[in-house]
Amino acid sequence: MASSIIYGPVPSWRLGRSLGIDLLSTGGKTCSFDCVYCQLGMTVHPEVERKEFVSLDRIARELKAVEGIAADYATFSGMGEPSLASNLGEAIRLVKSALKLPVAVLTNSSLIPREDVRRELALADVVVAKVDAPAEELFRKINRPVGSQTLAGILKALKLFREEYHGKLALQMMFIEANRDCAAGMAEIAEQLFPDEVQINTPLRPCGAAPLSAGEVAAIEREFGDFKNVFTVYEASKPEVVPFDLAETLRRRPGL
Ligand code: SF4
Repeated sequence: MASSIIYGPVPSWRLGRSLGIDLLSTGGKTCSFDCVYCQLGMTVHPEVERKEFVSLDRIARELKAVEGIAADYATFSGMGEPSLASNLGEAIRLVKSALKLPVAVLTNSSLIPREDVRRELALADVVVAKVDAPAEELFRKINRPVGSQTLAGILKALKLFREEYHGKLALQMMFIEANRDCAAGMAEIAEQLFPDEVQINTPLRPCGAAPLSAGEVAAIEREFGDFKNVFTVYEASKPEVVPFDLAETLRRRPGL
């Protein structure tokens, strides 16, 4: 499957065998952020406007080739921020009907202030939303937004989304040196957003930022003591999987 928009399955610490759907599939990363820890390298195509990158016809054709594949989730992720694709909602419907798998979307939350993005994300069974900083300055330092997005605007919209969304909302928080001492502030944010789970991450795959140690992550987890469903990447187990196209998979998940 040359130039496939579908890749994996990849082992995911919270989604099991995750079949990736890349609605961007651009040559380099297309994103509204340029996170210091991004495993995809620098944002080659900075973008904040939605548009169609891959047609629904092409998605439908490629879905036929993976029908029946063993996976736990079909996950919208890939070469950047999936909600930049203006056909995300239609693609979620298509994938659900073709693969009969629960659908997850991994989003950096930057476009969630848009009503159309919230409406489309709400079609997914699971939304994993990124929040990495408790304050604007740190948000700009870690996530390096390429437009005028603000943390305040994103958090306000995430609250709205939580009120509207009846699926599973997971907050994914990436901890590195820069926000290592911010766990209490991050737990306060989580309290306001009523997520179904909190995922405490640190970059264990090769990237431009060093991971925190297991001890440092455990100390961060203790700040989230009021939450029932808190998971850390160090405690996670991952399933064994064999991607059907290793090259296409490694392009989106270097080091798997
Ligand atoms: S939001 Fe995701 S894809 Fe975009 S720069 Fe950050 S880590 Fe990379």
